[in-house]
Amino acid sequence: MTPIASGGTGIAAAPRPARPARERGSPVALPAALDRPVRDDYEFVILGAGCSGLSLCHYLLEEGVDAPILILDRKTSFEDDRTWCFWDVEPTPFTHLARGEWSSWSFASEAGSVTQTTSRYPYKYLAGRDFYEHVLDRLAGSPNVTVRLGEGVGGYAEESGGVGVETSAGRVLARRVFDGRGLPPGSAAFEEARRRSVWVPQEFLGRRIRTRRDVFDPGRCTLMDFSVDQSRGLRFAYVLPTGEREALVENVYLSETGTSRQGHRSEIGAYLEGSYGLGPGEYEVMGEERGYIPMTDHRFPRRLGERVHSIGMLGGETRPSTGYAFLRIQRYCRELARAVSAGFEEPPARVHPRRLDLLDGIFLRFVRERPKECPEVYRRMFAGVPPDALVRFLTERSTPLDEARLVRALPKRPFLALAVEALLENARGRRT
Ligand SMILES: Cc1cc2nc3c(=O)[nH]c(=O)nc-3n(C[C@H](O)[C@H](O)[C@H](O)COP(=O)(O)OP(=O)(O)OC[C@H]3O[C@@H](n4cnc5c(N)ncnc54)[C@H](O)[C@@H]3O)c2cc1C
Repeated sequence: MTPIASGGTGIAAAPRPARPARERGSPVALPAALDRPVRDDYEFVILGAGCSGLSLCHYLLEEGVDAPILILDRKTSFEDDRTWCFWDVEPTPFTHLARGEWSSWSFASEAGSVTQTTSRYPYKYLAGRDFYEHVLDRLAGSPNVTVRLGEGVGGYAEESGGVGVETSAGRVLARRVFDGRGLPPGSAAFEEARRRSVWVPQEFLGRRIRTRRDVFDPGRCTLMDFSVDQSRGLRFAYVLPTGEREALVENVYLSETGTSRQGHRSEIGAYLEGSYGLGPGEYEVMGEERGYIPMTDHRFPRRLGERVHSIGMLGGETRPSTGYAFLRIQRYCRELARAVSAGFEEPPARVHPRRLDLLDGIFLRFVRERPKECPEVYRRMFAGVPPDALVRFLTERSTPLDEARLVRALPKRPFLALAVEALLENARGRRT
């Protein structure tokens, strides 16, 4: 993807990354300085070199931690495998890497469309490869960090004074372990959460396309377009234009459909044709990304052992009602690094306000139990809640007044019934 020129296109100028942005799709090489021989023991071993594992290591270094840190991952390369979007409600060490941003976003359904505009909290677009490259560069400057790729972690066992971590290449001892291996479908943590919670899958595939003529408005993205066929499950299109001729277009299901890659591609093709008049020969596909993000009210344990702590999606950092995780991961990893550098005994329990749990639980139930009514509920939200208040709610920075505005915009009867259900279930205790 061509780097976005600043100014003139509707995308505001943002500080540029230190290096010129590389074409999207190109993998990031592991800096040689990080690929050191593995020692027998480490102060900290981080499982997973993904968003949370790399972010935590970054924050530990920022806190001045100089003890030996080992990061293990089973993948063999850092592919440009995802795009993170988030509202710029607070600084993060990665925000300046954003390749694009929008101050206007739209929502659409059969009942009509709504556009919201605010310059206060732009929606930012961060390419996976830029995040990996930036963090790895930072880590490479610290002699205490080692990153090993192609080393799957089979398990770990606590023993006196540490944790023995079993990897495909042998065994290392850690004084503390941070498990950021995500929630891959089929993993034990994934299945356990699915069995015990209100669970809404977010299945999606996105294609980064380049068109032969100007079709997109780079000044506005489409957060949800429900005016697509709903016969196979609750579904919307998500469009992030990074130029008049470039966009990431995603096909998203909020239901378990098991749609194949090819199925998603056909649905994206039909959407591009129906909404933008783009025939198959009128665009090139520059890259693809795919995901399954569980939206769940499961309470993921923070401690997986005396000296083992979960981070990222495995630690429950996915917002149950939206599937966004990036900002929560940053907040939690920053707090955790602070606690570690202060010689902690207890990891911080959570960084998001507890009072939003009930609203999240109600939304989740609504999506699971009344999917056909969801487009109208989202429309009311976008039409009835001012953009700044809505962004604050979506990023867990809302005030009670923002939440009151949101509740006012929602249909009372079904939400009250689901609130009672959620409260009763909490009172009875969680499913076992
Ligand atoms: C395509 C995609 C787009 C997304 N877009 C957004 C977005 O726009 N905004 C947002 O807020 N969130 C988004 N998310 C959700 C969330 O932010 C990401 O999934 C995020 O990467 C989660 O971070 P994590 O550290 O928990 O897991 P990951 O980043 O997935 O990292 C887990 C790492 O653990 C490794 N691993 C797994 N098992 C093992 C093992 N046994 N041994 C060794 N290593 C292992 C994996 O290889 C991986 O590198 C998106 C997710 C996907 C998949």
